[in-house]
Amino acid sequence: MRTMTTPQAALGSPVGGRASCGMILTMSTDLLSAVVLSSIRHDDEELGMKQAVRVAEAQDIVLGCLQPVGIEKVALLEALHRVTAEEVTAPRHIPLEDNSAMDGYAVRHADVAAAARDHPAVLQVLEVLPAGRSPRHAILPGTAVKIMTGAPLPQGADTVVQVEHTDGSDAQVQIYRAPRLGSNLRRRGEDIRAGESVLAVQTPLRPAELGVLASLGKAQVLVYQRPRVAILATGDEIIDPGEPDTQGKILNSNSYSLAGQVAEAGGIPLLLGVAPDQREIMSQCIASGLRADVLITSGGVSVGTFDYVRECLDAFGFQARFWTVAVRPGSPATFGMVGQVPVFSLPGNPVASMVTFELFVRPALRKMTGQRELFRAYSEAILQDAVEKRQGVRTLLRGVLQQQDGQTTVSTTGPQGSGILRSMSLANCLIDLPEEMEHVQPGARVQVMLL
Ligand code: AMP
Ligand code: MG
Repeated sequence: MRTMTTPQAALGSPVGGRASCGMILTMSTDLLSAVVLSSIRHDDEELGMKQAVRVAEAQDIVLGCLQPVGIEKVALLEALHRVTAEEVTAPRHIPLEDNSAMDGYAVRHADVAAAARDHPAVLQVLEVLPAGRSPRHAILPGTAVKIMTGAPLPQGADTVVQVEHTDGSDAQVQIYRAPRLGSNLRRRGEDIRAGESVLAVQTPLRPAELGVLASLGKAQVLVYQRPRVAILATGDEIIDPGEPDTQGKILNSNSYSLAGQVAEAGGIPLLLGVAPDQREIMSQCIASGLRADVLITSGGVSVGTFDYVRECLDAFGFQARFWTVAVRPGSPATFGMVGQVPVFSLPGNPVASMVTFELFVRPALRKMTGQRELFRAYSEAILQDAVEKRQGVRTLLRGVLQQQDGQTTVSTTGPQGSGILRSMSLANCLIDLPEEMEHVQPGARVQVMLL
């Protein structure tokens, strides 16, 4: 028995608020009224879509359909891994004023230039200046201020002598060694100058940028919104972890790997649970999913007797942009729009689901979250295994990339069946073999996508 919240509730909350599509039937029938289940027709144009598109073309199609969802102001601590939607300029110099980079003595360089261990310079200490206080005295010839790191430089001082090169006195200090003129100072504006552009629009915020924003006094920053991404698993055989594990059932791994991928790509995953292979319930689940910014389904897009996803989507006015990609694993991957909502229908096999997410959904979510870099980084490596490959099909194998004797090598993770999810878990890269390539021999130079 599933005890879940409604999908409506799930759409208001992140992962954890999973909804059971099985419950929707009893809880809500209004969503169903929009669905005309009988009028399913695939016209000639749609049949043309069955032509497999190349991966690059499919990616262009997806990216051409999407825009960022919006922008919002968030507190600095919530901004990690978000992307700026404003240019940030410095309202003031950093540092705001000249200050000491050392614990020591603020001096006039001329007074200490000749200092040495056997004939120290002797200066009168005017005050002891902790960080966070303003100096009360200006430095005159023959005087010094004992200064702590970060304290503002007193007027008249041009150099700080570090305490290790003195006798450390608070009254009359002996200086044993002269640093170079201007040593041990942090100059006003040396880090960032007032008015300077510090972060461009569409800058990803890493820990360093959070620090920079904080140092500019910004408590909030304008960023791109995270799209809410509904994830719907399908299949009579699919059960969730924790449910009674009866014969013939398969555990739902896709919702969880996809949720992780969505979160890593910058989206907010909303798990809609598992829709059985029944048109009515599946349609209700899809209706719920279409309230999100993006809908991802997994399974039910092959040519099996009970593969109803496409049929149900059509009833919502689904405009397919492609429907089959020349890729392995994952050829039944489908993409289209229902109104303004992009819908990705990924294959059910766990590896195919993850790989097609990588290829199509991740770049899409990155575009929607304002990222400029939409694709993974690649590296070249020397293949260690022989690989069988069909010509005309882009093929992504799970690989382990490593440095061996000064060379970058890659081996496959072992069996590459699209149901063998462990191959993804063992992999740190995808070996990306282009369409034109045929069987590949050990020693071949290949491109790998770094995961
Ligand atoms: P389908 O495309 O629905 O025919 O599914 C293809 C294969 O993927 C079948 O073996 C399914 O059991 C498996 N599969 C489908 N959905 C999931 C899921 N959510 N988690 C794990 N395996 C799945
Ligand atoms: Mg299925």
